[in-house]
Amino acid sequence: MNQDLLFKQFQEFEDRVARLRYAMSIIGWDAATRAPKGGLGYRAKMVGGLNSDMYALQMDPQNLSMLEAVATGESFSPGVRRSAQLHLKNINKIRYIPQELYAQNSELLATSGRVWEDAKANNDYAMFAPYLEKIVNMLKKFLELRKAEGDPYDTLLGDFEENWNTERYDAFFDALKKSIVPLAARIRESGRKIDDSLLYAHFPRPQQEELVNYLVAQFGFDTHRAIWDVSVHPFTNSICPTDVRMTVRFLENYFPASLFAAIHECGHAIHNLQANPALAGTGLFGSPSMALAESQSRFLENYIGRSQAFWDAHFPKMWTLFPEQLKSYDSESFYQVINRSKSSFIRMEADELTYPLHILLRYELEREIINGRLAISDIPKAWNDKSEELLGIRPDTDTLGCLQDMHWSSSSSFGYFPTYALGSAYGAQFYAAMKKSVDVDKALREGETAAVTGWLKENIHQYGKFYTPDQVLQRTTGSAFDVKYYTDYLTEKFTALYF
Ligand SMILES: [Zn+2]
Repeated sequence: MNQDLLFKQFQEFEDRVARLRYAMSIIGWDAATRAPKGGLGYRAKMVGGLNSDMYALQMDPQNLSMLEAVATGESFSPGVRRSAQLHLKNINKIRYIPQELYAQNSELLATSGRVWEDAKANNDYAMFAPYLEKIVNMLKKFLELRKAEGDPYDTLLGDFEENWNTERYDAFFDALKKSIVPLAARIRESGRKIDDSLLYAHFPRPQQEELVNYLVAQFGFDTHRAIWDVSVHPFTNSICPTDVRMTVRFLENYFPASLFAAIHECGHAIHNLQANPALAGTGLFGSPSMALAESQSRFLENYIGRSQAFWDAHFPKMWTLFPEQLKSYDSESFYQVINRSKSSFIRMEADELTYPLHILLRYELEREIINGRLAISDIPKAWNDKSEELLGIRPDTDTLGCLQDMHWSSSSSFGYFPTYALGSAYGAQFYAAMKKSVDVDKALREGETAAVTGWLKENIHQYGKFYTPDQVLQRTTGSAFDVKYYTDYLTEKFTALYF
């Protein structure tokens, strides 16, 4: 076919996908923030219709052959080819699943999500187990239809992180097991404790809101192109580089949950606000992968937001907002308390050091579940045993154990957890590379956060999804992924804090 015509068809396809995504994105944002509860039924109908429109657009045989031609067409620019390849990667996950089965699965997930909520609230794993069984079976059926070869978990891991599989993740988690598990145990057993009563002190919401506005401004959160609102679970909705929306939540008796979630989401927001504006509406807008997206949010949250230098600059502001609560603190003692390490049952409450161990636990269980080596009925015990092995604590209830996360109530999320830990590790490698050209501590101490965000824009953000995660690491840090940056960073930081 004529190349110009093919390109025109491709552009039209991207425009139509962008329009549908825009609508669904705004509806999703609205549903999580301001929409009245009563609108749920009508909204579900509209969203269902939009989903069907998207399905029809993506499954259209003409569109599929057009995408295949563009993805491999030598005469197209590398950006256009990559964009077509990414559209196809997305479509290939559902391409071989009959529409009827696909709809059945959506229904199953909607029900199992509700059952999981009740099961969690009532500490009733037996209630959720039959649904989890169905979800895993459906997932295996999908993998068969896709003709996925080899270890089925490899396919799922690769869906979320390009070119990653059990072999690479095994090596990654093995390194964490050898260094971080013993370090966390050493801290626990040393009996050394950082007084953390401040974390549970009362921090009124109005001042917390002011703090969030102040902090996100430090990172270049441009309120002309970005807004924040409040939702139960914080998230970021990146529509295009001129419309990015994030949510935060406010806990008055556990301020780190508000403060660090806000910085985390701000990391996602900045990532997309700093993309090349020309990527709007194309398949190249967004993060190249889940772990890369998490690397950017965790970069601001941990490498910057939990650093001494950052608080040297911003503790005075914090102090003026909360003079009573912070009266016996200075930036050093504040740094210590926001970095204290203590094993927790709940992943979302974990500190920077023990967080990846929560992910390691889930990775090891998921691999066994998907390969049929761990029966659904045996999950609670396996979870508790692993928790004891890795974190030194055993949950009394499944609510605090295997029922805590919503991810497994949605089959599309098996293979997703590992990207959380990998994102932190990517972040450590970026941090080491950044320090070669930017005096990060000096810049942060002087309140020059733009030196950090500018580096991220220049090296990572502007390109959107153009490069694969492996290429991003190679280009920006000069070497392939290496877990050592992460284990060294954690070892150094927490050894200094505790010994
Ligand atoms: Zn995130």
